[in-house]
Amino acid sequence: MIDVSILGATGMVGQRFIQLLSQHPNFKITALFASERRKNKRFSETVKWVLEKDMPENVKNIRLNSLADNVPTKIVFSALPSAVAKDVESRLSRNGHYVFSNASAHRYDKFVPIMVPEINSNHFESVKFRNEKGGFIITNPNCSTAGIVIPLKAIKEKFGIKKILVFTMQAISGAGYPGVPALSIYDNVIPFIENEENKIKVETRKILGSFNGEFKDADFQIDARCNRVAVRNGHTEELFVETEESASIEEIKKALSEFTALPQKLNLYTAPNPVIILKEAQDRPQPILDRENGKGMAITVGNIRKSDLFTFTMTVLSHNTIRGAAGGSVLNAELLLKEGKLDV
Ligand code: NAP
Repeated sequence: MIDVSILGATGMVGQRFIQLLSQHPNFKITALFASERRKNKRFSETVKWVLEKDMPENVKNIRLNSLADNVPTKIVFSALPSAVAKDVESRLSRNGHYVFSNASAHRYDKFVPIMVPEINSNHFESVKFRNEKGGFIITNPNCSTAGIVIPLKAIKEKFGIKKILVFTMQAISGAGYPGVPALSIYDNVIPFIENEENKIKVETRKILGSFNGEFKDADFQIDARCNRVAVRNGHTEELFVETEESASIEEIKKALSEFTALPQKLNLYTAPNPVIILKEAQDRPQPILDRENGKGMAITVGNIRKSDLFTFTMTVLSHNTIRGAAGGSVLNAELLLKEGKLDV
C-alpha cells in the first residue's frame, strides 16, 4: 500500500477523497490536513461529516495537521481553495511531491496538465519540464468541464468539432461546504457562478488540445452560461454542438455509447465501464436518478436530438464531487501508478 495525504480533508471534496481512498486497494490515507483552527484535533471530533455513507472508521482517530506541518507522503491529494493552493502546491511539487489537485490555481500553468485519463494522459509529458526534484502538479478540470469533455472527446474523435454552446445547471455542493446559503438557493435558480464560464471555455480547449513541448488549445469555438440550481449533487448541462463532418443522430449516439478509453482498457479501480451511459428516455438524465451511475464516475447523456442551429443537442449529467473532483484525481493517480510513472 502507498501512503497518501489529503489537503483540505474536512471540506466537501476532502470528504469525498476520504470516502474513495479509505478502502482503496493501492492507497492508504496516512495524513490529513485542514486549517490551523483544527490542528491536532481528531478528525471525528472536529468534522461535520456531510456525505451519504458514514465516516470511515480508519480516519476517525487521525489528528489533523495544518499546512505549516511536514507532509509525510510523496503522493498528495489536494482539495484546497485556490488561493491557498497556489503557494502550497508549488512548494510541495518543488520539494518532490506528486500533487493531484482539484484547485484551479495551477490549471493554466505552462507545464501543468489538466488531466482526464479518458482523454489526454499524454499531457503528462508536460510535467517533465517543470522541476529537477521530479515533483509535479496534476490538476483535474473544474466540475462542470469534467462532465462535458468526455462526450465531446467521443464526438471530436469521429466527426470533429467546430462550435460548442453549453448551459449548466450546477448542484449546490459545487460551492463547497456550507456553500450557498439556503435562503439564496431554496426555491431558486442563480444565473451566475463566479469565474465558471471562463473556466469551462479555457479548460475544455486545453484538455481537448495537444501537447508537443507546449500546450496547443483545440481550435473549436466555445461559449458557456452557468446557473446554480437547488440540487444537492450532480451537474446537468445542456450542450449544443456543431460538428465538422455531418453526422446523423444515430451516428452520434453510436459514437457516444461505444466510446471507451485507457482507464477502461486497464481496468483501473475507479474507472467506470462504460464511461458514457446513453439513456434513450426523453426525460433523462436526471440528477437524482443518474448521478451515482458508475459509482459517480460515469457520464450520463440523453435527450439527443437535432438542433435547428447546431448539428445536435444533448443533456449531460455528471457527479460534481466524484467525477468532477475527488474521483477524477484518484483516477489520475491510478493511471500514473499503473503506467509506472510514480516513483513510490
Ligand atoms: P470546501 O468545502 O470549502 O473545503 C475547503 C477545505 O480547505 C477545507 O478542508 C478547509 O479546512 C481547507 N482550508 C481552507 N482554508 C485553508 C487554509 N488557509 N489552510 C488550510 N486549509 C484550508 O471546498 P470544496 O468544495 O471541498 O473545494 C475544494 C477545492 O476543490 C476548491 O479549490 C474547489 O474549487 C475545488 N473543486 C470543488 C468541487 C466541488 O464540486 N465542490 C469540484 C471541483 C473542484 P477547514 O475545514 O479547516 O476550514
